[in-house]
Amino acid sequence: MTILNRNSRPQTLAVPVSLTGNGLHGNQPCTVRLVPVDRATGLVFRHLPSGTNIPVNAKHAGDLTLATTLVKDGIRLQTVEHLLSALVGLEVEHLLIELDAEELPILDGSAEPWVSAILQAGVQTLAGRRRFIKINQPVEVQLRDKWIRVSPSKGLGLRVRYSIDFNHPSIGHQSREISLTPDKYRREVGTARTFCLEEEIDTMRARGLALGGSLDNALVFGADGPLNDVLRFEDEAVRHKMLDLIGDLALLGAPLAGLVEAHAAGHALHVALAKAILDQPQAWTWEEMSDADDSRKRPQPRFSPVFAGIA
Ligand SMILES: [Zn+2]
Repeated sequence: MTILNRNSRPQTLAVPVSLTGNGLHGNQPCTVRLVPVDRATGLVFRHLPSGTNIPVNAKHAGDLTLATTLVKDGIRLQTVEHLLSALVGLEVEHLLIELDAEELPILDGSAEPWVSAILQAGVQTLAGRRRFIKINQPVEVQLRDKWIRVSPSKGLGLRVRYSIDFNHPSIGHQSREISLTPDKYRREVGTARTFCLEEEIDTMRARGLALGGSLDNALVFGADGPLNDVLRFEDEAVRHKMLDLIGDLALLGAPLAGLVEAHAAGHALHVALAKAILDQPQAWTWEEMSDADDSRKRPQPRFSPVFAGIA
């Protein structure tokens, strides 16, 4: 297995890489091409048919029902969160993301196909230092019994504590806490699939949603357990909530250093937290990662070009 290390330099991909698949909700094909950049630009989507560029930022957040949408100049990019999660999880924070349709492919319902594509393309570093939003005071958003909060933690890392309470026998209460590193993201979070309850499917389809959904790209929980053959983790549902949260926090426009705790949250609360943080600049400072924070303590690993350039 590739050893993934934290890098104090901004990272982009070494070579372009493409993935194609149908969207979960609209069931239309979409090809996404991840294109390296030559300086620290952040993450920017480019909708090729219209030529519209949409920087990944909370100010472009649109509809947040069941998926995260970015909207600008009439272009509406849907279900961006799993790709963004893989990029943030692997600390590839500067990239041009070209796409030829408005809904990203759902692939297997997790971030793993994106993770594999990123690892095959390999990473290269850019000039400068990685800049973090370092939380100094708590910021919280609450909606009835659902809430999300960020508070200070040591160092320049993201720690996530997530809990869910489903009044459903197949899910129930699940909670997990992870101090994120690229390696932990890949092993413990990135492979968890999106999920829904069997009883929700008719309602979603009646609203024109989940038209591309199947047991190949989503976990479906029936009254007696998952309809899928096997779970990837016993608590796959809460791990997928963490995956979504990490992707939605990409809308901050920079990596977050702090402890994020969420209970029964979802895309709307995740993005509300990102907006609340950006609206409260007194709660955080910009911090740069120094070589001392760099976990590598050795020359930068370059992924072998032998693995680069998958179609
Ligand atoms: Zn998701």
